Amino acid sequence: MTEKLVVTNKGFVRADFSFWVGLYMDKFYDSFENKKIIGNKCSKCGKVFVPPRKKCGKCNETIPLDNNWVNLPNTGTLLNYTITHYKVSDRAARKAKKPQIIGMVQIDGSDTAIVYRLLNIDIENVKIGMKLKIEWEEKPKGNPADIKGFVQV
Ligand SMILES: [Zn+2]
Repeated sequence: MTEKLVVTNKGFVRADFSFWVGLYMDKFYDSFENKKIIGNKCSKCGKVFVPPRKKCGKCNETIPLDNNWVNLPNTGTLLNYTITHYKVSDRAARKAKKPQIIGMVQIDGSDTAIVYRLLNIDIENVKIGMKLKIEWEEKPKGNPADIKGFVQV
């Protein structure tokens, strides 16, 4: 048997794919079309979830799909953040032109946080606890990208 030399070439594979977000997230993103934030509330312990979920993360109670929805404002508080030099949504493009701030934002009236970019805020001015509001796309389509990010109130 002769030895076979294996020639390799390093490459980068991109795979476009889709997955269904489920009934709860579907309803959540549908509300984005009207530039509205909704959460769902556990009827047992009263926790409000944004994004909504089927099972309460605190007491494990099932939250029914057809009720328990609450309308929430477009404002929130910065719970935590990180600074990255790389684009989060497009790894192929790699380095961002300037550092981006990614924040965990607790929508007012909810008990959880969503993660989005902070816009038009300088790194030296970002502070945990600062008040923020949503910057919507002009023509929302009912998907996560309808929220461009959060700006300072
Ligand atoms: Zn609960």
